[in-house]
Amino acid sequence: MAGIELAGVSTVYPNGVRAVDALDLTVADGEFFALLGPSGCGKTTLLRTIAGLEQASSGSVSIGGADVTRLEPGVRKVAMVFQDYALFPHMTVSENIAYPLRVRRAPKPERAETAARTAAGLGLAGLLERRPAQLSGGQQQRVALARAMAMSAEVLLLDEPLSNLDARLRLEARTFLKRLQRDLGLTTVFVTHDQAEALAMADRIAVMSEGRIRQLGSPRDVFQRP
Ligand code: ADP
Ligand code: ADP
Repeated sequence: MAGIELAGVSTVYPNGVRAVDALDLTVADGEFFALLGPSGCGKTTLLRTIAGLEQASSGSVSIGGADVTRLEPGVRKVAMVFQDYALFPHMTVSENIAYPLRVRRAPKPERAETAARTAAGLGLAGLLERRPAQLSGGQQQRVALARAMAMSAEVLLLDEPLSNLDARLRLEARTFLKRLQRDLGLTTVFVTHDQAEALAMADRIAVMSEGRIRQLGSPRDVFQRP
């Protein structure tokens, strides 16, 4: 069970920008949740705060009932896929996927085995020895997802995961992400500035502006005109 619960969360940068402002949010276990809003409204900061990569200045963030600020990074059940995928250029696909296991000091055979199994599940079986520069954008995205899967995460945080893909790959990746979420029952929070993407994929949508949630509901609720 890994729902997400935020209560009164503000995230303020050292320069004084209040990127997330007294925000309450509950994402249910296994839900596919979209954060929608214009550039600069605080989506990435909110995601990074949920991941524990930014420290909330006030309020509380819990995942599966545990306060994220109290969890060691290695035991967090949260995986984040960044907009630019953030793969290590000097590592192979296999090494990139297994990186979280290396951080946890898992033995090498276990790392290779997990990487191979995870890669196969995502259609990357033939690419294990390649480096990121030798992959298409769609393949790089799958490697980033595979790395998240290899962590056995229960919560998947996706920051504009489709924005670097061309139109055809984007459609394919949408279907792929939905299937992944359904099959694994992952709680997924998906950041986008694209209304159509949120509409097509999300169980619920939060519309943000200036660090706050202005609207929240099913795609029907959010996009229905009064
Ligand atoms: P979004 O993801 O919706 O584009 P961000 O969370 O990136 O929004 O940014 C929210 C606000 O916080 C913006 O005003 C942005 O300029 C500011 N911001 C983001 N990152 C930092 C940072 N590291 N330091 C200071 N301000 C930041
Ligand atoms: P996004 O659209 O995903 O929020 P941005 O292009 O806004 O990405 O930000 C890219 C990087 O720059 C992020 O790491 C963010 O934290 C940082 N950043 C954004 N705005 C600021 C700012 N005003 N001051 C310092 N860093 C910032």
